[in-house]
Amino acid sequence: MSSRKPLVAGNWKMHLTAAQGVSLVQNIDDFCRELKADVEVVVAPPFTAIHSASTVIDIDRMQLGLAAQNMHWEAEGAFTGEISPTMLTAARVGYVILGHSERREHFFETDEVINKKVKSAISHGISPILCCGESLDIRESGETLAFIEGQIRAGLEDVSAARATGIVIAYEPIWAIGTGKTATPKMAEEVCEHIRNILGDIFGTTIKANTRILYGGSVKAENAALFFAEKNIDGALVGGAALTAGAFNPIIAAAKT
Ligand code: PEP
Repeated sequence: MSSRKPLVAGNWKMHLTAAQGVSLVQNIDDFCRELKADVEVVVAPPFTAIHSASTVIDIDRMQLGLAAQNMHWEAEGAFTGEISPTMLTAARVGYVILGHSERREHFFETDEVINKKVKSAISHGISPILCCGESLDIRESGETLAFIEGQIRAGLEDVSAARATGIVIAYEPIWAIGTGKTATPKMAEEVCEHIRNILGDIFGTTIKANTRILYGGSVKAENAALFFAEKNIDGALVGGAALTAGAFNPIIAAAKT
């Protein structure tokens, strides 16, 4: 782990009601207060649970951050079923997960759409957690680094270095998401180092040095520390193991430097 503040983010996906979310947030917060670790912890509830999570975080003065799992790029308009960046900022949401492989695969999000969302999030003061990751076919054909480079460059097109400060990148090999298979720490580090070099090429040395790059893909208490020990991995984006405090809290503890 580097001098960058570790970040552990829990993506709840389409799980947990508002009441279940409040209870989980309270359990995570209790644990973090005990741990006193210099780790940034973020939860990404479904939209129906964001407001109640935000309220309890605010009232109980929790240090937890809030992320949305998606966002439209427009501030408002006739987009039935969508949620805007202004709605998210009003609910004190500080991060938004963009380009998750499930949105790319099931909701046909392209790099172009993701790029619009990235730019919109930044202009509304929301930090994007931009996801990238290769399929098993791409990994087996030896094209992983080139493919990831394409996703990163396209997702960040027309973002200036001055506006890139809060961006977080999550490297999530598709074949490792929700499958119980993980990349080895060395595989993950190779890609994360490549991402950092691309950031340097696009934005220069400060953004290269300061941007947090997370690994995601079946991270659990048992394997988290192995990823966090790598030089270019600054935390994790966690799916399945983010749904209970029993599974999530030890991952936070593993990120303690
Ligand atoms: C994810 O969906 O971002 C993820 C990493 O899921 P899981 O931890 O379940 O593999």
